[in-house]
Amino acid sequence: MNPAKRARVEAWLRYGEELGVTPFFRDRATMMPAQTEAVESAPSIEMAAARPKFAPARPAPPAMPAAARPIVAAAAGPSLFEAVERVEGDSLPRIREDIGDCTRCRLHKGRTKIVYGTGNPRAELVFVGEGPGHDEDIQGEPFVGRAGKLLTQMIEAMSLRREDVYICNVVKCRPPENRLPEKDEIATCSPFLLRQLAAIQPKVICCLGACAAQTMLGTNQGISRFRGEWFDFRSSKLIATYHPAYLLRNPNAKGEVWKDLQKVMGVLGLQPKKK
Ligand code: SF4
Repeated sequence: MNPAKRARVEAWLRYGEELGVTPFFRDRATMMPAQTEAVESAPSIEMAAARPKFAPARPAPPAMPAAARPIVAAAAGPSLFEAVERVEGDSLPRIREDIGDCTRCRLHKGRTKIVYGTGNPRAELVFVGEGPGHDEDIQGEPFVGRAGKLLTQMIEAMSLRREDVYICNVVKCRPPENRLPEKDEIATCSPFLLRQLAAIQPKVICCLGACAAQTMLGTNQGISRFRGEWFDFRSSKLIATYHPAYLLRNPNAKGEVWKDLQKVMGVLGLQPKKK
């Protein structure tokens, strides 16, 4: 590798490490639980206010020439969603009814409540996370723990209310010990997510964290490679950013997330909330 290219790659790796993304180019599905724990796990730092806290705390990453920009490559197999047909006349209540008291995958064994999704059924913006945690499992609502509070602050910083958007997850039942959902669990549950998205038809889908982004895009590449990029997803635009739980552990990444949210605001024609 020539010295200039090597220097650019090293700069990007250092930048990733600063964000806590140590397995920089590795598929999350192949990461050890301890590594994934380190990337996005239990929060430790509270966020007091929304928008001002998203100001970048670190210098911008080194510029990469267009030809060297990472591109999301297709996963080995087709997207999970390619096999899912649109259901004519589908609606959020009907999809919930179809889920029922679901036992389709092993995640049902440890759940307290199915966490279906919440918010505006006609939302222009849908946030998709990976799966319920402890608080969500108890309450039956997505993003109600500390990461959920941060997500609410992020939404409000965008001049929206939580009830203006729709929030849901790839899997509807809590994985034990907050582990990542397994591939077969995602394959079983995510068609419900696709139906939810088809019923809502949002302008923008914002994936929170690697699991949601990789599932939606059918890729196994690390989120750092395509975070903040726009993709077409059926009739919606899709963007991926870091999970709020990751931000609680890595507050320096809030600036990057705020940049992503500003892109979303641009598409939705929103102005930042005035203090
Ligand atoms: S995670 Fe989804 S597929 Fe699995 S039991 Fe829960 S609702 Fe059913």
